[in-house]
Amino acid sequence: MARYGMLIDLTLCAQCSACTVACEALYGLPAGESGVHLRSFETGRFPAVQRITLPVQCMHCQEPPCVQVCPTGATYRDPATGTVQMDYERCVGCRYCMTACPYGARQFDEAQGTVAKCVFCTSRVEQGLQPACVETCIGQARLFGNLGDPTSEVSRAIAERKAVPLHPELGTQPSVFYVF
Ligand code: SF4
Ligand code: SF4
Repeated sequence: MARYGMLIDLTLCAQCSACTVACEALYGLPAGESGVHLRSFETGRFPAVQRITLPVQCMHCQEPPCVQVCPTGATYRDPATGTVQMDYERCVGCRYCMTACPYGARQFDEAQGTVAKCVFCTSRVEQGLQPACVETCIGQARLFGNLGDPTSEVSRAIAERKAVPLHPELGTQPSVFYVF
């Protein structure tokens, strides 16, 4: 079984929003409804507080709170890839998943009346391509691959660069890791 995952190295990220725009373009999303969001966070403790901006998207949690609350099965974890996917035919737009996601990774699609999010471009990956955000990243800050294989490039980079997930204390077991 694969477990698709991603590394985002913030030391290489230019915060140019190319990933955000690539996602909108690929999926025909209106501006501002990309599956990748640039978010600002405060880190550290007073007085050594620092504001950082980082790209946030669905973390493809292995223990996803969004899946647990979805009343229709519209969002589900795919065991073959370890990703969290959407069946838009089943989505009734109740937004329970948006409330449950601790990363703010989902957005409401006003036109469709459903909730959208990053799906790791699995249709591209099945064709041997990289996710659009990875392919577009000018700083090569993103790596995508199989976290289930400890010898994969992404697994080795996560280990070597000491990458960490966001909020590991929540127990969601994200599949997106960051280098700060
Ligand atoms: S990041 Fe949010 S939307 Fe994605 S799997 Fe985790 S809880 Fe669900
Ligand atoms: S908005 Fe759609 S995906 Fe989210 S909980 Fe409701 S039915 Fe499930």
